[in-house]
Amino acid sequence: MGRLPLAFLAACALGGAVATAWAGKAHEHGVARLDLAVEAGRLTLALDAPLDSLLGFERAPRTEAERERVASMVARLRDAGSLFRIDSAAGCTLAKVELVSAPLGLGPAPGLGSTGAPAKEGHGDLEGHFEFSCKAGARAGFVEVGLFEAFAPLRRVELQVVTPKGQMKATLVRPASRVALVR
Ligand SMILES: [Zn+2]
Repeated sequence: MGRLPLAFLAACALGGAVATAWAGKAHEHGVARLDLAVEAGRLTLALDAPLDSLLGFERAPRTEAERERVASMVARLRDAGSLFRIDSAAGCTLAKVELVSAPLGLGPAPGLGSTGAPAKEGHGDLEGHFEFSCKAGARAGFVEVGLFEAFAPLRRVELQVVTPKGQMKATLVRPASRVALVR
């Protein structure tokens, strides 16, 4: 393909606007980071997002409506085969989903301190790990990322993509969804 996807052109336009870097970790409301790794036999995605980007709040739910929002978010993330639609040429099927978010009580229960550190200054994050088994992962030409459809507060996804052919960074800005993979 001779053209860069539109998403690439928007890269960095908004960079630094709301730089609230604390403890060396990017936490910007409305933004999520997504690492995508393509291998022959599998495709993995790692999502790191402020809860505000997914839910609109960053603490344990207090009302019935908020509890429903959390349940709906978890359901969308667990249904990762719908959320991340991989080029069918690769023959991928969802194998595993792991979600970690200390404020929501998601993730490994013992030692809450380690992975999901306590919320700082009222902030909170969610980390998601999604693994697909693929018949021919390297044949995946694209992944459709459905995060904007699923999560209204989300405006931008910063991507880092690693394939057998190389590594690249890209930015998806609402409503773009397609990530073209280097082949
Ligand atoms: Zn926050």
